[in-house]
Amino acid sequence: MTSLAVLSVASEVYPLVKTGGLADVVAALPQALAAEDVPVCTLVPGYVAVLAALEDGAEVHRFADLYGGPARLLRGRAAGLDLMVLDAPHLYSRPGGPYQDPSGRDWPDNAWRFAALARAGAEVALGRAGAYVPDLVQAHDWQTGLLPAYLHAEGGPPTVMTAHNLAFQGIFPAPVFGTLGLPPSAWSIDGVEYYGSVGYLKAGIALADAVTTVSPSYAAEIRTAAGGMGLDGLLRKRGERLLGILNGIDTAVWDPETDTALPACYSAARPAGRTLSKVALQARLGLDVQPNALLYGVISRLTWQKGLDLLLEALPTLLGTGAQLAVLGTGEPALQAGFAAAAQAHPGRVGCVIGYDEKLAHLIQAGVDALLVPSRFEPCGLTQLCALRYGALPVVARVGGLADTVVDANEMAAAAGVGTGVLFAPPSRDMLEAALLRTARLWGDRELWRRLQRNAMRTDVSWKRPAARYAALFRDLLASRAA
Ligand code: ADP
Repeated sequence: MTSLAVLSVASEVYPLVKTGGLADVVAALPQALAAEDVPVCTLVPGYVAVLAALEDGAEVHRFADLYGGPARLLRGRAAGLDLMVLDAPHLYSRPGGPYQDPSGRDWPDNAWRFAALARAGAEVALGRAGAYVPDLVQAHDWQTGLLPAYLHAEGGPPTVMTAHNLAFQGIFPAPVFGTLGLPPSAWSIDGVEYYGSVGYLKAGIALADAVTTVSPSYAAEIRTAAGGMGLDGLLRKRGERLLGILNGIDTAVWDPETDTALPACYSAARPAGRTLSKVALQARLGLDVQPNALLYGVISRLTWQKGLDLLLEALPTLLGTGAQLAVLGTGEPALQAGFAAAAQAHPGRVGCVIGYDEKLAHLIQAGVDALLVPSRFEPCGLTQLCALRYGALPVVARVGGLADTVVDANEMAAAAGVGTGVLFAPPSRDMLEAALLRTARLWGDRELWRRLQRNAMRTDVSWKRPAARYAALFRDLLASRAA
């Protein structure tokens, strides 16, 4: 097997810049691909935090002018990765998040901030930016959607467009097109034009050699009008060149046997540390310290996608079974206020932390009995994978990657010893309530619960299988180019 060098281009990388699961994937997949003889170099924007973390960064290329200022490519190491960083202070050196200013408004020049990232990736791929030339490029999400468009127009290695969530498409006004340096022919329904605007993700989906998304079920859902968010026609057209490959999680970062964020470590064979985590979590969130109360957790962006308004509606049912709820999240003001109000109205029964807190996320996974993910759609979902590994039974909507990763503990599954959680469909208040009642019944049979927990903890949620599938796809694409 010959080695296959991949340039992975993305706008986030854990732990340096993260707004969602994308960052986790970008950080963890290269390590798993290395075992498949696929060395990955990862190109990210030079945000302040990224530049600060870069070790031994050496300049490999200079751009005299990249969308309004000079820029350079640095290559070094950070976060355990072979990292290439686009140092362009006029685009990335600012306060606030990767896409928004400190007040939460999208940066007005996002079209060019990410056109620049794609352009830089294209220069590397075309062998015009230093000695490193990849065999294949993987572009993640809309921020890099122009990269397949550039390489489609200019040649270069095969490209894979990976869509982590079709809800974010990078759509900009038509006049942006003239600034992108693409040939006029790219302004077409088969190129970057999207209902009269410029669509970055659309461009990548249309022009990459292959498109992947992060679960087989999501790959099927987005081919339909109901799930395709306007891109379903194009996605159907990609036929077998659209694949769903599940995400894994970094099993070193998420390991209850070594996790320093927990009061005590534990394993399926030695579960005592789990109870200690539960007690610590209940105390931390002001919940009644009751090891026997069924404790649910939520770790999530608080958005419509995640179905957490349904959970607020179903809260009386949850509390009616005697259960408790621990919530960690940030997002829409109405949902933040809703959970904060629920915690006030039900002291000792509902605990809520509005914010982003990695350590607390670990404690929640270790301390709750069940993790709720009532998403309306979910490309893959990572929290339920962490939950499986930590022995928190996922109670999830049967959509996208949730459907592909959790085995419903129905009677037959329980008898066969394969159930790992509770699934419900469709994502509605009624069905969520039914799932909460079913989960409470399962909790009532503690021996069965422990068996389900062991099944969950035995599930392989690592990157091993997914990485092998990516490697096979990459080799396939190279072979078809060579043929
Ligand atoms: P999405 O990418 O749609 O937000 P995922 O489940 O794929 O959802 O990934 C979310 C990631 O972000 C997980 O690693 C989860 O643990 C983490 N996360 C989400 N919200 C928080 C929070 N408030 N604090 C800490 N971690 C969070």
